[in-house]
Amino acid sequence: MRHEESNMDKADILSMTKAELCDFILTLGEPKFRAAQIMEWLIRGADFSEMKNLPKTLREKLDKTAFIAGAAVSRRLVSADGTIKYLFELYDGEKIESVFMRYKHGNTLCISTEAGCPMGCAFCASTLRGLSRRLLPSEMLAQIIAAEKDTGERISGVVLMGIGEPLDNYDNVIKFLRLVGSPDGLNIGYRHISLSTCGLVDGIRRLAEENLPITLSISLHAADDKTRSSLMPVNKRWNIAELLAACRDYFEKTGRRISFEYTLVRGKNDGRQDAEKLADTLYRYCAGMPLHVNLIPVNPVHERGFQPSDRQGVREFAAALEARRITATVRRRLGSDIDASCGQLRAGEKE
Ligand code: SAH
Repeated sequence: MRHEESNMDKADILSMTKAELCDFILTLGEPKFRAAQIMEWLIRGADFSEMKNLPKTLREKLDKTAFIAGAAVSRRLVSADGTIKYLFELYDGEKIESVFMRYKHGNTLCISTEAGCPMGCAFCASTLRGLSRRLLPSEMLAQIIAAEKDTGERISGVVLMGIGEPLDNYDNVIKFLRLVGSPDGLNIGYRHISLSTCGLVDGIRRLAEENLPITLSISLHAADDKTRSSLMPVNKRWNIAELLAACRDYFEKTGRRISFEYTLVRGKNDGRQDAEKLADTLYRYCAGMPLHVNLIPVNPVHERGFQPSDRQGVREFAAALEARRITATVRRRLGSDIDASCGQLRAGEKE
């Protein structure tokens, strides 16, 4: 699916709320009740010509004045464990990735929020070539709609952990969250939505005011500023003390539990003393909060040269945290046979 020049001045209909769509329909001289019908079709991935309960004249008007952002399947990798990794192509040829994961409680899709990423984390493939552009709210929805259509299955959970930094695309991400949770739209419960950030403190503080009961995940990855800055340039802007103070305020304001992500890189941040330091740091800034750390053995990215900790090392790290009364989970490596770590397919495409 290629970008049509004519789309440039058309309305982005899939980014509209029900109220916005009603207004838009009125400007076309059509009755408001059409908005609900159109929305139903949109979330099922139909194009205008397929909207059979609309008069032909309306379908033609829509086609002239609006476009439906799409995510076209460019590659599809299926893992032995049922995980599906999609490489999607957007209207302008940009490629992004989503990962469809099956859990006992339902299907979850990991979506991208940007094409590329500006944050520069040392271990991450998504950022190798920087940011190309930010995604529209509709392009985040389109990933879910396309994956539901492709699998024929319902998606009941979403994690914003694919390519990009969600809080670097703040307004579009918030709009997407309002749309995806809306009963008029895909109606996915906020408690089944997680947003992961590398630690943009201004964004975390704004998010706390949005009244969206999603789960916030913080990519911490190190417990001292020297190590964290060497892995994540964002730490030079907002250090660990500032980040964890914002987490504390977020928790106090929203009452929502925060989950900390910690990528284990062999010899870099995975020793016994690192686990102790992590526990000390969390207690220093976040005492009184429920503390949960999600451990991720680093997925070796060809260009980066980092190696994951071995199983024994991961177990010992988790046990050291548990001994300090911090719950630690080790991320299940769904889809490890298909390069499911974010950014790897997109990066591979451009070589
Ligand atoms: N930009 C956001 C979300 C995208 S990345 C963020 O930084 O949180 C989702 C998670 O995967 C983050 O915790 C990120 O640090 C981690 N990650 C990135 N590359 C990885 C790799 N090669 N191995 C393991 N985890 C990785």
